[in-house]
Amino acid sequence: MTETVIKPEFGTGQKNFIFNQEHEDLRESMESWVKKELHPHRNEWEDTKWPNHAIERAGELGYLGLCFPEKYGGQGGDYYYSLVRAEALSYAGSGGLGMGFAVQTDMVLPPIEMLGTEEQKQKYLVPGIQGTSIGALGITEPGAGSDVAGIRTTAVLDGDEYVINGSKTFITNAARARFIVLVVKTDPSAGHDGITLLLFDIRDEEGNDLPGFSVAQNLEKMGMKASDTGELAFEDMRVPADSVLGQVGKGFYHISWELQGERLVAAAGSNAGAERVFETTLEYAKEREAFGRPIGKFQAIRHKFGAMATKIEASKQFTYSVAWRINNGEYPVREISMAKLMSAQIACEVADECIQIHGGWGYMKEYEVERHYRDMRLNRIGAGTDEIMLEVIGRSYGL
Ligand SMILES: Cc1cc2nc3c(=O)[nH]c(=O)nc-3n(C[C@H](O)[C@H](O)[C@H](O)COP(=O)(O)OP(=O)(O)OC[C@H]3O[C@@H](n4cnc5c(N)ncnc54)[C@H](O)[C@@H]3O)c2cc1C
Repeated sequence: MTETVIKPEFGTGQKNFIFNQEHEDLRESMESWVKKELHPHRNEWEDTKWPNHAIERAGELGYLGLCFPEKYGGQGGDYYYSLVRAEALSYAGSGGLGMGFAVQTDMVLPPIEMLGTEEQKQKYLVPGIQGTSIGALGITEPGAGSDVAGIRTTAVLDGDEYVINGSKTFITNAARARFIVLVVKTDPSAGHDGITLLLFDIRDEEGNDLPGFSVAQNLEKMGMKASDTGELAFEDMRVPADSVLGQVGKGFYHISWELQGERLVAAAGSNAGAERVFETTLEYAKEREAFGRPIGKFQAIRHKFGAMATKIEASKQFTYSVAWRINNGEYPVREISMAKLMSAQIACEVADECIQIHGGWGYMKEYEVERHYRDMRLNRIGAGTDEIMLEVIGRSYGL
């Protein structure tokens, strides 16, 4: 008769179905770089913004090009590496840095790879992967965010140049970007079919604004303070006619494609952010004592951890299942929207509970939970608000 006692096992090995050993090895090396070279600066960068050399270093180490073809300096890895990168970056403890990097790797570069000409790829994708040239994505305007088709920035063809006029706001990396993917109206009378993407330089090699371009305002934010966010002005800015990215008049569809990748990586970032604050709060709950025992031993607090862990795990595994579909060539808009919605809401709920568990210390800067709370709040707004996600999901049922 066997002596082995059959009992449930909490410490299983593989905890998901998408990552293999190579993903895990990459995760380990990236995580250790993030902890060593980025995390120590998280507080200072809240004031100074993350420095460009951080992304250059990431490029040097190959982390920016994980999913891009080797031909352009990437690693040629599958889609899952994008999630690995977002998760590893969460260890920086700086939502602003994670967002600034994600704009480059998951918002600006993918449409260039997908839609760009060979010349555009050589000019923007290659240095973008190296981290030596930083990009921005300009969709939102002072008068139109969720309603992308409501934008007013125009680009009028004049000989072999487009003349751009208008403004964009809330643009991440605005103060540092060398180039931009800009959503413009090339035919204001054509509705969704009058929108085009342009890809062009906004600064010269020394970082000076090119004629017709300026940052009207660097915006002060509630959170994500390590990132720069600006309002851009285009006044008769002339760019070559071959700056079109993709097809003239198809920019609305192109950017709708781009937004899907942006949303799923935002979901991965939200889940990872929730996990990080859960972990630090768990440590706190084991150490902080009240009424003669660690606060984590009170059922009320223990249950908070039970509930948070359940939500985070569900959201993470759901995000992985959507990533699996993307990696298999699908582009499931409904489920991507669900993952974005759920993960952002859960990340905000978790951040809120973690402040509660820290009590008064949660409200103080020292424990960094308050920063997490402020950073996470953006996730229910950026890359498409909760309400827009619900619209997309609801409409997908024919409503
Ligand atoms: C820190 C930060 C960084 C950002 N970075 C970038 C960037 O790099 N590039 C870029 O282009 N944009 C960026 N954005 C903009 C972001 O994507 C928009 O803020 C977001 O899409 C919402 O647009 P809006 O702010 O104009 O809100 P609005 O569209 O004015 O929405 C206001 C409210 O109305 C609701 N609403 C709108 N339409 C509907 C509807 N049909 N049904 C129900 N409710 C609706 C919204 O959900 C929201 O609650 C950034 C924003 C922030 C705050």
